[in-house]
Amino acid sequence: MRTILLNPGPVTLSDGVRAAVIQADLCHREPEYLKVQASVIAGLLAVYGCDPRTWRAVIHGGSGTSAMEAMLASLLPADARLLVLENGVYGERLARIAAIHGIECLSLNAPWHAPIDLQAVASQLANGGFTHLAMVHHETTTGRLNPAVAVADLCHRHGVRLLLDAVSSFGAEDLPFAHPALDACAGTANKCLHGIPGVAFALCRDASLGAGLRRTLSLHLPDWAERQRLDSTPYTPSVNAVLALHQALIELAAQGGWTARRARYRELAETVRVCLLELGVETWLPAADSSCVLRSYRLPEGVDYNSVHAALKRDGFIIYEGQGGLAKEMFRISTMGDITDADLARLCTALVGVFGR
Ligand SMILES: *Cc1c(COP(=O)(O)O)cnc(C)c1O
Repeated sequence: MRTILLNPGPVTLSDGVRAAVIQADLCHREPEYLKVQASVIAGLLAVYGCDPRTWRAVIHGGSGTSAMEAMLASLLPADARLLVLENGVYGERLARIAAIHGIECLSLNAPWHAPIDLQAVASQLANGGFTHLAMVHHETTTGRLNPAVAVADLCHRHGVRLLLDAVSSFGAEDLPFAHPALDACAGTANKCLHGIPGVAFALCRDASLGAGLRRTLSLHLPDWAERQRLDSTPYTPSVNAVLALHQALIELAAQGGWTARRARYRELAETVRVCLLELGVETWLPAADSSCVLRSYRLPEGVDYNSVHAALKRDGFIIYEGQGGLAKEMFRISTMGDITDADLARLCTALVGVFGR
């Protein structure tokens, strides 16, 4: 019995991606690796049809957080004023990164169960003298899909550049690359793209790569971009994770690209939701507000998360607890990864065993 990961990354791998990880021992300065790297960079741009004359895909070794940190620390000019929208753990992390790197930053907080207040964003942008806005596209804390296009419209109206944490949406949700306000999206290999952990990336508008102050050595995206443009790399990349991502991007394209993946994720998420609803377990966030990637569910009265987790783990499924103050209140089920209909049928049986009475 294979274990199915229902946590929001890393994900259950396809056999093809798992095999790709150990397909060869490669030196990162040899053409055998650099050819794969170039193909991954082209493949990342191709996911959303980004024009390579305007957009650059820049990869580096690290987790999703290092992609967020690289984006903020290396694309913002010295005199930047940043507005961060927060309605979960990852929005808070964006603000924390900005503070650590000495970036002048104001946070606009919404409660974790609430949508972003577009009215409040509009008035901040109208009064605040901001140059940049950073937000999380899919706030994995709760499963909420935040309104990237509406915020991008507000940014555009006020001449503010938009930076998106798309770590848990790149590859499965719509991203506004055609929007003139968007400067960059941070992403990772091991969520909706179905690669393994180790490759972080940012898709950056070309002009934004020249504008930032250097605040870091190894996360400075313009350095990675310039060396990658010359078919090289400044430091050792996560070679095997790049091999896996290469295969994962081939499989994504063969399966119909991000729109097909979104349709599949929605189908899986709805199956789980209906199955849990029949057992009296309701969504914590309305399904209509949720991404296709992850749903949060209310822990029934008197039910202990740890025992739910342990029972499902015995049946071969890893679920995820609520973050921060939400651990007693909710749990999360993500349906990213190479999950089959048979896996889901088995999950529904396991859920009946846990929640049925
Ligand atoms: C997973 C995730 C991250 C990064 O997490 P890492 O543990 O550093 O990979 C960042 N933002 C969002 C929205 C995420 O879901």
